[in-house]
Amino acid sequence: MTYSKKSPMITATVSVLKGLRRPPKILASTLAQQCLLCAKPGSKAVLCNACADDLPRLTSVAAGLCPRCAEPTPHSELCAACQTSPPAFDAVSALFSYVYPVDRLVLALKYGGRLSLATWFGERLALLLSAQGRAEQIDCVAPLPLHALRLKERGFNQSAEISRTLASRLNKPLRLDLCVRTRHTTPQTGLTHDRRLANVRGAFAYAGEVDGLRVLLVDDVITTGASVHACAQALLQGGAAGVSVALAARSAQYSRL
Ligand SMILES: [Zn+2]
Ligand SMILES: [Zn+2]
Repeated sequence: MTYSKKSPMITATVSVLKGLRRPPKILASTLAQQCLLCAKPGSKAVLCNACADDLPRLTSVAAGLCPRCAEPTPHSELCAACQTSPPAFDAVSALFSYVYPVDRLVLALKYGGRLSLATWFGERLALLLSAQGRAEQIDCVAPLPLHALRLKERGFNQSAEISRTLASRLNKPLRLDLCVRTRHTTPQTGLTHDRRLANVRGAFAYAGEVDGLRVLLVDDVITTGASVHACAQALLQGGAAGVSVALAARSAQYSRL
């Protein structure tokens, strides 16, 4: 199955849902009867099996992935950026490449309030982490925090919603108290990697008891990794034994130089 960029269902869904903090119950129950991407009726899942199988898995769009940051590399070797300037996190597990139609799904979750997508991503991340043998290497699951102002404005933290399902499926504690965003930063979109790093430097702080913990930090999507790097740094400063990252989607190619 192929998707048209003008898929009427997703265009209509995103435009209807954009701006809604949470979809009205009647709308949510109606949409739950059909696939979010192709509008096929009768599916209880947010996506039908055919659309789910067609999504661009990160592993299928690259020959290999850097074991540390999941940047595509020819033979799964450490990428050049991780060799010269290693990130604060140890490993990245990511489901999808951040291209169409995954970008629309992330939009529908983040700005359309389609929280069923967070459950869907969380379930699949649990399977991925188990398959990679990383599930046993973590002690707890923590979302990348939103600033209190952003949380109030949006009404939910999409990363926390993904974390909720992921922690439950992995049978690990969900820790919403481990780290906080102390600074309300400007959006990262359009900034160079250096500017992004500067933008989020000191924007996170550990807040809960983190000493000795191996933390799985969860975010919906990253494009350069600057925010998860800054948050992982804060957790390590608090005494975390290590930080790994789980993502619904990641840019398949980015420059951190
Ligand atoms: Zn479908
Ligand atoms: Zn790397």
